[in-house]
Amino acid sequence: TYGSRELFSTHSEEYKKLRSYGMPVNPEGKVVSGIADIIEFHKKLEKKRKALLYEVDGVVVTVNDGTVYDRAGVVGKAPRAAIAYKFAPQEVTTIVQDVTVQIGRTGVLTPVATMTPVNVGGVTVTHATLHNYDQIKRLGLKIGDTVVVSRAGDVIPQITRVLKGMRSGKERSFRMPSVCPIDSSVIMRDGVLHKCSNVQCGARNKEQLYHFVSRSAFRIEGVGPRVIDRFLDEGLISDAADIFTLKEGDIEVLDGFGKKSAENTVREIAGSKKIPLARFLYSLGILHVGEETARVLAKQFPYAGGVYSVTKILTAYRSMPVDVLQQISDIGPVVAQSIYNWFHDDGHVALLKKLHATGIRVVHETARGSRKLNGKTFVLTGTLSSITREQAKERIREAGGSMSGSVSYRTDYVVAGKNPGTKLKNAREQNVTILTEREFLNILK
Ligand SMILES: [Zn+2]
Repeated sequence: TYGSRELFSTHSEEYKKLRSYGMPVNPEGKVVSGIADIIEFHKKLEKKRKALLYEVDGVVVTVNDGTVYDRAGVVGKAPRAAIAYKFAPQEVTTIVQDVTVQIGRTGVLTPVATMTPVNVGGVTVTHATLHNYDQIKRLGLKIGDTVVVSRAGDVIPQITRVLKGMRSGKERSFRMPSVCPIDSSVIMRDGVLHKCSNVQCGARNKEQLYHFVSRSAFRIEGVGPRVIDRFLDEGLISDAADIFTLKEGDIEVLDGFGKKSAENTVREIAGSKKIPLARFLYSLGILHVGEETARVLAKQFPYAGGVYSVTKILTAYRSMPVDVLQQISDIGPVVAQSIYNWFHDDGHVALLKKLHATGIRVVHETARGSRKLNGKTFVLTGTLSSITREQAKERIREAGGSMSGSVSYRTDYVVAGKNPGTKLKNAREQNVTILTEREFLNILK
């Protein structure tokens, strides 16, 4: 504040004079005009903060013109023409709600704290890596503890201290799991690290995640292999469902991300949560189920067109026996068994339940105008005279239908050519509509 209004008409002149006397004056001070310039100056200095040789928690904005300053007056001890404009705090307290284990690219298990969201260093943070089990022991951390979270400059936020005096007695200790959360292999200790004993575990999981976000699967723009690697390395994700729990703050603090790209990424992830059934089935990475098989499998979904939850999908496909799956055209015994096994694996069921909890909605599309045979299943018996069996199959598929090798409760039509076999008899017994070749060709028109 001003000592003598008679000598200086502005605050900056006063500074200049002091400097000329050899007095130590902060070189960062600057005369700016307008609110936008003040915000800009504040931002610049906040970035420079860690390079400064002293601790600083913000800037003081003051009116330069002495007359205005004086006229504004003083309230209590505070001059109205000067105000502190603080930086985001770099150390805050919050509560650790849970500690989960994430599996990295090399199969290393990383404990990660989930915290009550808190703003530190200008970013809202919900996760903090605890690096390894020894770090948890060093901190003396329990789930439910109040902790100090620090973030210096652009560094990722860390839990630096546990405030043990704030315990209520309800806190509980964290234990490293004895089996891998992904593939249930035994966990081994390797120095300070805990690792999955299956050497392929981390790499395979990483590949599955690449597949999950890819164009033909969840199609998450801006989240490719490089970004998945970053998420894995920071312990932010270990399975596909974790992707949907990421918050802007989690991403913003990562190298190469800023506020804008973190916002975009979270928006893209949220936008991908509504997904066509075929792409959803493909995303699961079921052995032998490529894009085409996923499309065929999607058509077998036993409910009408609409939007379904993940558990509904799980229940529908889990209840299909191998022999029913095998009757689907293009699905042989090996693929049928693979699909069956996938939906009966505990780990996969757990993953689907986790995906369900993230609010994913699966769209089952029904007949579009031209695809008039959508969802209809045909069985061919005997020989057709005007088209080959392959051509018939092709035409049925183009119209949205599918072809099956045997008559079942799922068959809509049996097409009877010359010299029909037992399938015709089966069709009669099961009251399935029987078409002549001519009738069949008319349907296709
Ligand atoms: Zn594993």
